Parts: sequence; structure tokens; C-alpha cells
Amino acid sequence: MGKPDVAIVGLGPAGSLMAWKAAEAGYNVKAYDIQKTYTKPCGDAIIVKEEYEDLLRKSESIDGIVTRHIIEVSGYGSRIIEHGSPAWYIVDKTRLVGYFREQALSHGAEIVYEAMNPNVELGNVVVDARGPYAHVAVKDSYIMTYRVFVKVDSWDSDTALLSFETEKSGLAWIFPSYRGENIVNAGGGLKGESLSRVKDYVKNFLKKRFGNSFEIIEEKAAPIAVYSEVEPVTNGVIRIGEAGGLINSAGGEGIRMALISALHAFNSLSHEDPVKAYLRLVKPLVKESLLTRRLLRSVERVEARRASRLLYNLPDVFWREFLRGNMSYLLLFKSFIVKPRIGVEALRVLLSSRS
Ligand SMILES: Cc1cc2nc3c(=O)[nH]c(=O)nc-3n(C[C@H](O)[C@H](O)[C@H](O)COP(=O)(O)OP(=O)(O)OC[C@H]3O[C@@H](n4cnc5c(N)ncnc54)[C@H](O)[C@@H]3O)c2cc1C
Repeated sequence: MGKPDVAIVGLGPAGSLMAWKAAEAGYNVKAYDIQKTYTKPCGDAIIVKEEYEDLLRKSESIDGIVTRHIIEVSGYGSRIIEHGSPAWYIVDKTRLVGYFREQALSHGAEIVYEAMNPNVELGNVVVDARGPYAHVAVKDSYIMTYRVFVKVDSWDSDTALLSFETEKSGLAWIFPSYRGENIVNAGGGLKGESLSRVKDYVKNFLKKRFGNSFEIIEEKAAPIAVYSEVEPVTNGVIRIGEAGGLINSAGGEGIRMALISALHAFNSLSHEDPVKAYLRLVKPLVKESLLTRRLLRSVERVEARRASRLLYNLPDVFWREFLRGNMSYLLLFKSFIVKPRIGVEALRVLLSSRS
């Protein structure tokens, strides 16, 4: 048998969506994943975006809506950002990916459950969608993240909390979960620390918040490639989602970019040179990912107290748009106009991280 039109390695949100769309359009698709059921731990929060709204609804995986964020900054306290409309969906990601895979199969895609190394021999167009696992061989390109489902006395189902710990270059979260009322999805990550240190960090964070009134009912860990190269094509292989480094490094948010880059890769198939077309379509995501890498580096390089002061004082417009996946230089500029003193400080910090 000849090569398939499209070979896809990895069937997370990015790869499974691409497999579905390509098979539905009549391409001959062969796809690979290690696991029959997608079980990677995640915060399960997806930024609301028109590009994939319909797909999420069809999958019936939406289990909650976030309209309020609490932003906690170490040493300073917390701020509340009200969105006034849905900002994030909370999804059952296993169901979401399962639905995409079922659709791919029902449109004739072949799925093989084995580990594969993407290389140009696999198909006429080859797509690397291995997520962070495409980077784990590269030292310091990722951090280990710990995620738990926790039973608590109460938690507002429309509220998500992000806690920035500048001293340790850490981030922890508490989100509502699809597992039911008062079961939250919590977790965190720390730069350059072992998994056991990350676990302690998350457990202490939960203790501070809930005292002894919480019970961990499931725990899991996974890498997240917030320090990887942003590289949407390597040696002729198209890389979508986290495999391409497409992730908001300043918050670890990657599902939106996984879905949108998959749609870009699918749309590039009808072009004479899909690789070239993909590079053009994916450019805004590449720019955004690079900007978030730069923000992360900037905050990490300055003294913790200064970083905290800066984060805490960023204007609401910054947080609101950042949390809605609208990160850009224009947003930074707008934020600086609203608070010029913070703008000058942020600019100094950004410029100091250029090296
Ligand atoms: C703990 C944690 C919490 C997170 N929380 C959020 C959040 O709340 N919101 C958000 O937007 N993002 C979050 N992220 C990031 C998000 O999970 C990823 O960015 C997103 O899932 C990327 O999708 P993907 O399809 O690119 O890769 P993945 O979801 O990682 O899927 C990759 C797939 O490739 C398969 N695979 C790997 N290697 C091979 C191989 N050699 N051969 C075949 N198959 C292979 C894997 O089995 C997997 O199914 C979180 C990440 C972690 C670790």
C-alpha cells in the first residue's frame, strides 16, 4: 500500500481534530497514538472562542462556564476579574478527544495504537501532534505539572483561581471541574523542581486555601512544554498544538492553540504546498507563543518582589484579555496607557530580558 495522504502522530485535542477534519474532507488518513483512551491530566479549561465553539458543543463535553477569575500574586494578595460573559469552558477532555477520534474513525481514518516517531516517510503530509512528549528529550524545555481532583466544602462553579508565586517561579490553580459540585481541579508547577517538590507545593497551596477540609480523590502528573522552541515545521513535518511549542507559556494554556493550529493544518491541505500554507496561517499563534515565552522569562529574571508588584498592578484590561487568549503587543501597549507608571516598569522588565 502507498503512503496515506496524511499521517498524524498523536491524537490529543490537536491530532484528533485534524484527523477528523481531514478524513471528513476525503483525505486518506492514518493516525497513531500510544493510548486508546486519552487520559492526560489537565486543568480542563478552554478559552471560549468562536473558531471551535460549534465543535465543542457537538462533542457534548462542556460541563461548566467560568465568568470570574481570582488572580492571586504572592506577597500582594488577590484581585477579582469579572468578565460579565463566559470566558472559559470547563470540559471533560477525555470525552472531547474521544468524540474527535470517533468522528475521525467514522469518516474512514485508520488509527493505530502504538508509539511512532514522526518522519517524512509516514505520509504525503506528516503531522506531529505529540504534545509536550515531542519535547521531553530536550532538557529544560518543559516542567512537570501536578494535577489533582479535590473534594472541598464549597467552591463557586463559575470561578477559577490562578495563583502566581514569583519567588519560586510557580503557578498554581483551582478550577471548577466536570467531576461534580464541590470537586475542584487543582494543581501547579514550579520551574526546575522535582515532581515531589511540586506535589508539596500544591498540597501546601491547598492547605492554605482550605485548611484541613479537603480530600484528594485523584492525582496525576504530566509535562508541559512552556520553555520549548516554538517551531511549527521541522524537516518538512507540520507540528500542531504543543508539539509545535504553541502554548501560552505565561499560564500553561494550550488547548485553544491546539485546536486552532489543527484547523490551520487542515486548511493548509488544500494548498499546493501545505507546509508553506500552514506556516503562513499559524503565524499569529507563533507570535503569541513567543511573546508569552518572553513575558515568562522577563518575570522570572527580575527580583521576586518587583515581579509580584508588577503582576499585581497590571490593569484589569490586561488580565481580562490575557485570560481570554488575546495576548499581543497591542494589548501590552493598551495596558501601559491605562497605567503609565506600571507601563514604564513593565517595559524596563521586558527590555531587561532581551539577552
Ligand atoms: C497538568 C496540566 C494542566 C493543564 N491545564 C490546561 C488548561 O486548563 N487549559 C489549557 O488550555 N491547557 C492546559 N494544559 C495544556 C494542555 O493540556 C495542552 O497544551 C494540550 O492538551 C495540548 O494538546 P495537544 O493535542 O497538542 O497535545 P496532548 O494533549 O499532549 O496530546 C498528545 C497526544 O500524543 C500522544 N503521543 C505522545 N507521544 C506519542 C508517540 N510517540 N506516538 C504516538 N502518540 C504519541 C499522547 O498519548 C497524546 O494523546 C495543561 C497541561 C497540563 C500538563
